[in-house]
Amino acid sequence: MAVNSGWQPPTNYGHFFAVLAAMVIVCWGYMTIPSGCETQGAARTRSTLPSSPLEKNPVGSVGDSANASNGGVTDIVEKPRTPPPLERPFPPTTQPNIRVRVAAVRGEPVQLTHPSGWLWLKGQNMQAGQTFRTPIAVYPMEDGWRIVQANGTTQASNFRLVESGALQVQEPQNVQGNIQFGGIAYLGSANIVRRADVDANASDLVFIVPLEEYLPGVLAKELFKGWHSNTYQAQAIAARSYAACEMEWWRNRRHYDVVAGQASQAWVGATSDAKSLDAVANTRGQYLVFDGRVVPAYYSSCCGGLPSSAADSIRDGTWTQIDPLNVTEKGRRTQCCEKAPVAKWQMSYSIAETVDRMNQWSKQAGRKDLGPMNGIKSFVVGDKNSVGRSKTFLITDRNGKRFIWDAPDFRVAMNAGANGSRDVLKSSALEPRLEKGRLILDGRGYGHGAGMCQYGAEFMANSNRSPSAILQRYYPGAIIVTMAQTPGDSATTAALIGAPRP
Ligand SMILES: [Zn+2]
Repeated sequence: MAVNSGWQPPTNYGHFFAVLAAMVIVCWGYMTIPSGCETQGAARTRSTLPSSPLEKNPVGSVGDSANASNGGVTDIVEKPRTPPPLERPFPPTTQPNIRVRVAAVRGEPVQLTHPSGWLWLKGQNMQAGQTFRTPIAVYPMEDGWRIVQANGTTQASNFRLVESGALQVQEPQNVQGNIQFGGIAYLGSANIVRRADVDANASDLVFIVPLEEYLPGVLAKELFKGWHSNTYQAQAIAARSYAACEMEWWRNRRHYDVVAGQASQAWVGATSDAKSLDAVANTRGQYLVFDGRVVPAYYSSCCGGLPSSAADSIRDGTWTQIDPLNVTEKGRRTQCCEKAPVAKWQMSYSIAETVDRMNQWSKQAGRKDLGPMNGIKSFVVGDKNSVGRSKTFLITDRNGKRFIWDAPDFRVAMNAGANGSRDVLKSSALEPRLEKGRLILDGRGYGHGAGMCQYGAEFMANSNRSPSAILQRYYPGAIIVTMAQTPGDSATTAALIGAPRP
């Protein structure tokens, strides 16, 4: 560990920080760079998140190598070698914290600010932390971190931290307000995790939030403002159950449980939306349970009347092969979401573009059974599930070679190659046909179609159906269990971080 003897607190910080400096001096290196000389990193790109824990075969936009390792103690890579747990979790007896990745920051520093003008930072292996003037810019380094405080102002100054682990960020003690990133106020504390497995200038920003505080920000973005409060409550219970299962699934295998986005569930961070806050408060501690364990309560926007089982469209295994996540209705899911604007749609892609995206994806996924294809001669539905939703597609290329694609993989492949949202393939429930050099897709719904259909839930709520009636329809056989929640349990955030704050 590099030790220095020259660190001095900026003079205007006073006695408070001088004392602090004495505590941290053994851990912090320093260098001074005149303000204005900052190199801001190369390309200023921030990728939103990739592939999904929620989608089956999550191979998409991330270039993770299978043997990725960056040596950091908590920097658990995204393709873990450790297998996931076989059993679903029991409902938690105290409020857990969820780790939410809000950004994969690539080729630029993580820039954070706080309304108090200060943020407290601590290396994971350090004894004590240090308070910095915001905005701060945090650059990943080979052996630690470089921090610029008062970034972009005439008072900017640089610090160097030798640290093999993640960088922890909190608001200073006894101040109000939330940590802000990219103009958005988040909740809880943050971890910045170096992603040397991606490249030298890559890091992930992960917020650690008490579950009940996290959920309102999910509802505020997942549902429309004018929707029924019963839909909000059903959604709160589903989102809480889904989150608890993702936490168990990824616990020691990755440095975050969910992403803030469609790959997991949307999250706006802090919200003042009363309907969302009320729905979470009114269902506090309520989980969907089957066989004594929490149901990973997947949901999607609109099933199009053609639901999918979670084993088909999300991930196969003991977690999803349970009654509440199987398609149990005979015939189509009627009176569900027929009136939704996304219930029926048509998309058309050029065959060249389709082949391009499919080949790109199969190569990235290492699926030699799926490509490369040389053009497309025929493209038809193979298997359908019990309610008629397409499960596989049979594709013959111009060389007469045949490929069998799982329908969800086809959707992921098409969307991984999509530029912007305009030609997003909304679901894999579709009837394909070839016409004049184009692939025409007549589709149904939006999303994977497993579990709750949000549009369907809203139609039920508007017919005076209760939150539990909605959940019983979409997760048949599951029960709602209310867990006692320890008063003041949000204090566990601080405990998780460990060290005392200044
Ligand atoms: Zn539906």
